[in-house]
Amino acid sequence: MCLFCKIANHEQDTDIVYEDEAIIVFKDINPKASVHLLIVPKKHIDSINELEEVDKELMSDMIFLAKKLALENKISKSGYRLTFNVGRGGGQIIDHIHLHLIGGGKINE
Ligand code: AMP
Ligand code: ZN
Repeated sequence: MCLFCKIANHEQDTDIVYEDEAIIVFKDINPKASVHLLIVPKKHIDSINELEEVDKELMSDMIFLAKKLALENKISKSGYRLTFNVGRGGGQIIDHIHLHLIGGGKINE
């Protein structure tokens, strides 16, 4: 089982900030700004490359959740970045699809 599946199953400790039946959100352990959350579907999908039609609503829900979390973390106005890294060349290290929500202060590249 991959690391993010373990986190989704509560088999691996991490700082969870939101959870519902389909999505879990936790703080990135190596934050690139004062707010750095990982929005992760509980369903294992390797990356954007493996998305299927059936995943459309799930992906949409992740983006709307990002909007809500940005508002709650007071970075809606100052701005933030939403990133899907895809494959090693795209900077993806964990092969379980996730959306980075990064903002608040300077973003460390
Ligand atoms: P990516 O490079 O897009 O695959 O992003 C993976 C992210 O997961 C990195 O920003 C890591 O800092 C983060 N990460 C790795 N392990 C953990 C963990 N146990 N808890 C929280 N974040 C993690
Ligand atoms: Zn997984």
